[in-house]
Amino acid sequence: LSSARTLWELVDRRADLTPDRPVLLQEDRVLTFGDLRTRAERVAAGLYGMGVRPGTVVAWQLPTRIETALLSFALARLGAVQSPVIPYYRDREVGFALRASKAEFFAVPGVWRGYDHTDMARRLGAKGVFEAYDDLPDGDPSTLPAPPADGTSVRWVYWTSGTTSDPKGVLHTDRSLIAGGSCLAHALRLTPDDVGSMAFPYAHIAGPDYTVMLLLHGFPAVMFEHFALPQALAEYRRHGVTVAGGSTAFYSMFLAEQRRQPGEKLIRSLRLLAGGGAPKPPELYHCVVREMGVRLTHGYGMTEVPMITMGDPEDTPGNLATTEGRPPEGMEIRIVDGEVRLRGEAVCQGYLDPVQTAEAFDEDGFLRTGDLGYLTDSGHLVLTGRRKDVIIRKGENISAREIEDLLHTHPAVQDVAVIGLPDEVRGERVCAVVEQPPGAEELTLPAVTSYLRAAGLSVHKLPEQLEVVEALPRGETLRKVLKYKLRERYSDPEISGSEAS
Ligand code: ATP
Ligand code: MG
Repeated sequence: LSSARTLWELVDRRADLTPDRPVLLQEDRVLTFGDLRTRAERVAAGLYGMGVRPGTVVAWQLPTRIETALLSFALARLGAVQSPVIPYYRDREVGFALRASKAEFFAVPGVWRGYDHTDMARRLGAKGVFEAYDDLPDGDPSTLPAPPADGTSVRWVYWTSGTTSDPKGVLHTDRSLIAGGSCLAHALRLTPDDVGSMAFPYAHIAGPDYTVMLLLHGFPAVMFEHFALPQALAEYRRHGVTVAGGSTAFYSMFLAEQRRQPGEKLIRSLRLLAGGGAPKPPELYHCVVREMGVRLTHGYGMTEVPMITMGDPEDTPGNLATTEGRPPEGMEIRIVDGEVRLRGEAVCQGYLDPVQTAEAFDEDGFLRTGDLGYLTDSGHLVLTGRRKDVIIRKGENISAREIEDLLHTHPAVQDVAVIGLPDEVRGERVCAVVEQPPGAEELTLPAVTSYLRAAGLSVHKLPEQLEVVEALPRGETLRKVLKYKLRERYSDPEISGSEAS
């Protein structure tokens, strides 16, 4: 199946193979592979009746639901260009996405979680606004033109998380998504008996890419419109979830829950936690494996390349804890001046903004990721930080990541972000921003520096500033810490402390 040229061809072939097996489970609803094909075709015909043609740009801002997947596959059936927008985004991000992608239609959930998306869309002057929550467009499939034949045209505009700057519009093809999804399926050693889960927004590239994996292997996943424990645990148990994915914040949440009931396995059917998308402190890896009794593999991906490397669940604990795994076949990795560069079928075509595209690819067509790392002798990738996250203090390069990993082992630290702040004397100074667990005694700078000294950190890397915050500012997609916000907050004395969350 991984040779399918387009997403629709993949749906079609899978529906022929196992029409009655479930693909998406949500609350009491079950969608089979056969239903996915027949229902998405009806939605496609409805969209066609509204004027959506191959190549028409359709943005959607919809929650993680079966209907969203149907709308998305209907657009793939038509060969339209779709631009998924994270449901939590508001005027600024949505307006930006609509303008930059020149969307001709915009699908919204109406009022969702108390927020009126239709009203926002009107306020922003969006074109072709329609609601796609319970009721989807509907039509007679016999009116449809043939599905697209080529998988190499741009059909997806995704938005990066905006961790380092404003979100960038990333261009993908059906083929690049299929390549990403097939690497993932292969790396995780999944079987048709697995039951997965989607604990991330479907509008993130991981949503459709995860669905590709389901199509390739023919197993189902549980979808969550609102992901919150303990309801999610009840769903995991009910459906017998065997492999659960998410970002680093997701493992911490599970671990905290496990600690409330030590000795008893949280979800009996669960064998593998597989996630990625953000740094994973080695300490967290060991705690999860030891206390939860599951394997954990963590991968490296980005909106531009949904899967770059993934830990093999059968690999040694040492490799799983400290590396991001090995690249799959077809993914070329090159390290240039410490930066990770990539070439392969799963790599995006570039950005909406041609200037960004020109800057991103090197003369050999490798994508500059902006991430720093190295390959070990056994071919495992180790990430050491982000280019924009290197602190240069008195001309010495300091990795924020190294200090963060050490501070994660401190019992009074729940999460931490280390940033460089402009400093007249030293160029930059090192500042640690710490979130503490409930009830912990408030940390002080001397306590932090002596802890880091004892852990072996060299003196020139020690933080000179400590900020204890109630909650670190996070992006909505993967709950990643938005360091640029912290830099803004602590660089300017006027806003320092005035905006605490
Ligand atoms: P923006 O590009 O808008 O600044 P972003 O890069 O955070 O935002 P994403 O595409 O969601 O947006 O995230 C990709 C980035 O996440 C990678 O470039 C890398 O820095 C980080 N990342 C992904 N996986 C891992 C991992 N396993 N370990 C460490 N960092 C990771
Ligand atoms: Mg990025």
